[in-house]
Amino acid sequence: MIRLWNTLPHDIGQLNNYPDFLAHMHKKYQIHEYKIINLFHYDTEIDNIYPKLRFQCSKLNADQFKFNLTQNSKCTQCQKNKQETIHHYFMDCAKYNTQRKVLKFNIEQQHIQLNNLSNRKLIQIIQGDKSLDIAPNIYKNIYQFIKFYIVTTGRFA
Ligand SMILES: [Zn+2]
Repeated sequence: MIRLWNTLPHDIGQLNNYPDFLAHMHKKYQIHEYKIINLFHYDTEIDNIYPKLRFQCSKLNADQFKFNLTQNSKCTQCQKNKQETIHHYFMDCAKYNTQRKVLKFNIEQQHIQLNNLSNRKLIQIIQGDKSLDIAPNIYKNIYQFIKFYIVTTGRFA
């Protein structure tokens, strides 16, 4: 919880009490308060979600479909009629445009040599691609931003 709190964008980090924070998140990301509370209270749960996303055995519909756990691999969060893959979830889904901006901004702040972060590079970063040669200490920060994205999308709440 505290680790995650420290990664919040500046404007949110300045809110000094929990109700203000929840109201702000609700307004900015249209996430129901109970979902935020759930996710922040289960920091370790998010630690589990991320590897599942990377290894494509998450609750995203494309992953569930692969294991015959759902009839439909398409995203039901937006109107794009696309498969709900990790790529769609992080790069493309129209429902998370605001959260994606925050994610890109945060990563660019950390890793300034990746100017004009392309979607291809972003997905490589998210998947922990070693060929990008990101130092582990920087990657640790990036990991927190990815977790913040996961929390604020509310997709796994
Ligand atoms: Zn979508």
